[in-house]
Amino acid sequence: MTNVAVIGAGMAGLVCAQQLTQAGYSVRVIDKSRGVGGRVATRRLFETKADHGACYLKPKGEVLQGLVNLLIEKGELEVWTNTVHEIEANSSSIIPHIPSSLPYIATSGMNAIAKFFTQGLEIIHNQRINSITLNSQNQWFLTSETNEEFTASSVVIAIPAPQAVMLLETLAELLNNSFFDELFSVEFYPAITVMAGYSNSLQQPEWKAITFKDNSILGWIGLDSSKRKNPTQPHFVIHSSADFAQHYFESEELQQVGQQILENAASTLNLQWLKNPQWMQVHRWRYAFPKTPIKQSYLAAETPSPLVCCGDWCGGNLMESAMLSGIAAAEYINSQLEQRELPGIDFIDAL
Ligand SMILES: Cc1cc2nc3c(=O)[nH]c(=O)nc-3n(C[C@H](O)[C@H](O)[C@H](O)COP(=O)(O)OP(=O)(O)OC[C@H]3O[C@@H](n4cnc5c(N)ncnc54)[C@H](O)[C@@H]3O)c2cc1C
Repeated sequence: MTNVAVIGAGMAGLVCAQQLTQAGYSVRVIDKSRGVGGRVATRRLFETKADHGACYLKPKGEVLQGLVNLLIEKGELEVWTNTVHEIEANSSSIIPHIPSSLPYIATSGMNAIAKFFTQGLEIIHNQRINSITLNSQNQWFLTSETNEEFTASSVVIAIPAPQAVMLLETLAELLNNSFFDELFSVEFYPAITVMAGYSNSLQQPEWKAITFKDNSILGWIGLDSSKRKNPTQPHFVIHSSADFAQHYFESEELQQVGQQILENAASTLNLQWLKNPQWMQVHRWRYAFPKTPIKQSYLAAETPSPLVCCGDWCGGNLMESAMLSGIAAAEYINSQLEQRELPGIDFIDAL
């Protein structure tokens, strides 16, 4: 039987699984998608790739800076730009800023970081877990949508809190109220993301990324092609504001919604050609960013066998908190199992 089943192969689940696997536990990671990385997502488009989820990694704390340094040594990350830009509400002035922490990217797409973290892991794809029960021997019994079954002595749930609520409803009798209250308290902002490619003949802007402050439609725009080593054509990624995404999330005319985002970006930035791309794709994120994260770095249940939730919504709202939460969840599981030595951020050395 597997020691630990990790549900979710996003950054939190992968980092957690690395900690426990490298400490010698038998770990199985299960994800509903065919790839890994969750919201650290890169789409192959025509002859290029676009990061339509996480745009860059900006380490704020020492632990993550240490982890980033190790990833740079391994050739997985590099600095994207020394200058980011902002536009205030109702303004068209693009203000440059030197960021307090630098944005790091993977030139082959952000998803490469997640793939790098899969080395040595057992990962089962295309299996959405939709029920968890505890059997009479206190073993966790996981069932997927296609009726695949998995047994494990402990479980890590590394998915957005609202999805964890749905998954854990059948276990309500075993879980105490404070656990559910915490889980229910976490809300997420949605986002709608546009990827658009343009002709090489256009005059490209000098900026690489702009954050739109308090804009009712736009959240962020990045010249995504500037992350690639040999870009074939300029392409942009634009994230909508949360309010806009909320309003249009269920729209059946997603291309029109994307066009509306492009037109707004074109007029705000005074780049009229932005509204006439050669190609455009639109993606919806129902759970993009935690709006009300919990304070702790993991959420453990008081169950007869260990069960812990982790993810970016535990202690923050970005990749950094997802990874730190994955490490913290692994420490919790280890404390409940055999108290082995865990690698911490040095897990990168073994990859
Ligand atoms: C548009 C956008 C832009 C962003 N930009 C940045 C940025 O620039 N910098 C930054 O640091 N962060 C950014 N983020 C946030 C960052 O992507 C997340 O904080 C981080 O990736 C969260 O990782 P996670 O492991 O907690 O969750 P996720 O990445 O959501 O991973 C959860 C995984 O669980 C799987 N799953 C869910 N339910 C089940 C189930 N029932 N059974 C099996 N598998 C399941 C999913 O398929 C997924 O792979 C951005 C996010 C979005 C959406």
